Order: sequence, then C-alpha cells, then structure tokens
Amino acid sequence: MKKIRTIQAAVLEEKKLNVCAYVRVSTDQAEQKNSFSAQMQAEFERRSNMRGYSRTSKSAFTSEYAFSGKLFCQNCGSKFRRASWGTGKNKQFVWRCINREQDGVDKCSAKTVKEKDLEQAFLRVMNREQGVKVTKFDEEIFRRLIEKVKVQSMVEVAFVFKTGFEVREIF
Ligand SMILES: [Zn+2]
Repeated sequence: MKKIRTIQAAVLEEKKLNVCAYVRVSTDQAEQKNSFSAQMQAEFERRSNMRGYSRTSKSAFTSEYAFSGKLFCQNCGSKFRRASWGTGKNKQFVWRCINREQDGVDKCSAKTVKEKDLEQAFLRVMNREQGVKVTKFDEEIFRRLIEKVKVQSMVEVAFVFKTGFEVREIF
C-alpha cells in the first residue's frame, strides 16, 4: 500500500513538472513575441522621424540590396542572387538559387522568386503581426529586423527575425 502511494505521488509529481515546463515554454514564446512587437514599433517610430532615405530598390546606406545575402534556399542551402527578367515596362527583378543558376536544374529544383512577391510577403507579415497599415516595402526596416529568409518554395518563405521569432508566409 505504501509502495502504491509512493508511485502515485511520483506520477503526480511528474505531471506537475510537465505542466510547469509547458507553462514556461508558453511564457517564453509570449515574451519573445512581445519583444518582437516592441522592437518593430520602435523601428516604425525611428523611421517616421527620418527623411530622405532612398526610394529606389537600392539602399541609401549600403550598396547592397535589401535581400542580398539574406535569402537561403531550403532545398540545397545555397544563397540567392538577384537577376532581372524582361525589358522596359515588363522589367522585373527576381531572386534565384545560386547553386541552381551555376550548376543547373539537376543540382537544385528551387524555382525563381519575384522580388515583388518577397516584398509583399514581408509587408503582410508586418501588418498582421504589428496590426498597423504599411503599404510600401521599407528596406531599412527589413534590414534591421530580419536575420534571414528561408525560401521554402516559389510560393512559401519563412522570415527569421533577429529576435529569433520566425513567421511563415505564402505568396
Ligand atoms: Zn537551391
């Protein structure tokens, strides 16, 4: 009888520990999300006080594009490189897996992603997570907040924030 009680007590104790662990993980996630929101809000305020930043696709502060070195192919691990498609009015910029570009389609099956799609996906994430209306892609905000972008496919990406927060988005 005493032994049974001991086992029951041990099981109860374990349940309690599991509940504690669960609560701890949930709290960590909530805190991470809060700090992410606070960081983004601070970034908006900082940006709204700035004037004269570049309106082109290239940064006024560095010679790199917003997505340079930040896009990673989830198919092969390679980085992506910028290229242009079409001419004149139809000209658009796209990003391609460097491995696929250099070594051919048999090396990596990752499809090309459009720069506009990446920008729009980031805007949707900002609007959804922060609950504010932003209509134009702001590369400085992107640069400061985003560690990297995992390109899962031509229609799905995951933005990894510098805080560790990760958000998936479909084009
Ligand atoms: Zn690839």
